[in-house]
Amino acid sequence: MSRAEVSRMRPPLVPLGTLIGRELRNEKLEKPFLKYGQAALAKKGEDYFLIKPDCLRVPGNPSTSFSVFAIFDGHNGISAAIFAKENLLDNVLSAIPQESSREEWLQALPRALVAGFVKTDIEFQQKGETSGTTVTFVVIDDWTITVASVGDSRCILDTQGGVVSLLTVDHRLEENVEERERVTASGGEVGRLNVYGGNEVGPLRCWPGGLCLSRSIGDTDVGEFIVPIPHVKQVKISNAGGRLIIASDGIWDALSSDMAAKSCRGLPAELAAKLVVKEALRSRGLKDDTTCLVVDIIPCDQPVLPLTPRKKQNILRSLLFGKKSQNFMNKSTNKLSAVGVVEELFEEGSAMLAERLGKDFPSNTNSGLFRCAVCQVDQAPADGLSVNSGPFFSPASKPWEGPFLCANCRKKKDAMEGKRAGIPTVTS
Ligand SMILES: [Zn+2]
Repeated sequence: MSRAEVSRMRPPLVPLGTLIGRELRNEKLEKPFLKYGQAALAKKGEDYFLIKPDCLRVPGNPSTSFSVFAIFDGHNGISAAIFAKENLLDNVLSAIPQESSREEWLQALPRALVAGFVKTDIEFQQKGETSGTTVTFVVIDDWTITVASVGDSRCILDTQGGVVSLLTVDHRLEENVEERERVTASGGEVGRLNVYGGNEVGPLRCWPGGLCLSRSIGDTDVGEFIVPIPHVKQVKISNAGGRLIIASDGIWDALSSDMAAKSCRGLPAELAAKLVVKEALRSRGLKDDTTCLVVDIIPCDQPVLPLTPRKKQNILRSLLFGKKSQNFMNKSTNKLSAVGVVEELFEEGSAMLAERLGKDFPSNTNSGLFRCAVCQVDQAPADGLSVNSGPFFSPASKPWEGPFLCANCRKKKDAMEGKRAGIPTVTS
């Protein structure tokens, strides 16, 4: 490669003062572009994925584009994975108020993801089919990444300076004590498989059903304590870009987050995805469906994502973004922003629907009807309840605290919390 070619590959130098000024003024940075690749090896054929790079917030306006990448790792059949792949995106988008600005849209997204996941689960239940699926659903809008997940298909973020961070939480009973307590409190039992006269084998599972996961879409036959309420994390990366690796547990049972990131650094996304799958196969063999998506978020003045740990640049970035973090965020102590490459905008993982739908007053439509915060159906006030009122069969005194839920979604909420019809619980 000639010197001229090398210098063409380098981003043009921008004076540090200019960069800091831009950051402090929060000036709009140019849209990054995405490159992505996918690789998979099937054992049972229950992994599905979704790649939609050109979605539009405003129909007909290309400047409002965003991208969606998702993995659905099905179990006990494929119907839940297929159903989620086909319906989840629409259900999420329908929960975002029309005519939102970009900022409003991004702010509404975490709540819309919760509504969309729960709505998809209710609709799948109504089909009366068995099977369930993990979902890891990633929305990329410029430099903002929003990840919603149930189950154990992880999404990791690799950024400049070799910082690898996990954007999901594993909803596995074996590894998640909070989830074990929640499942038990909601009427499930947690224990290992009993074989040969009382010997316990394998990971912790919930009973009835014997599922190792504590959250999923589907699993109607297992129990309502397996909830579809996703962990949601929203981050903004610096304009140096970053790489996402989204994969089913076939990868993560074989490789740590760091190993997966390191195994493919510096390679284009398509090749990187293949290499991660190959690396997992090499270390563990093909024991499970294995699917991997790699998405590079690349500054538009660079031909490839130069993801290598670069100490000097990292110090510079810490100065640049560390200052911004202190100015713009109150909790600058969190791990990611402390290293100066990622700004955490939102994180919430509670399994309680009331905590996830916010406390906004119900939106009263012109018709005098209320819109359900989960399924977006308009209903007369008498036919539903607010999310924060008491159990379905014993409305509390302040029924309008928080968003409105239709009767159907209200029933779902109570069922997920282990409250059954006919057994009213007294609340303070
Ligand atoms: Zn509803």
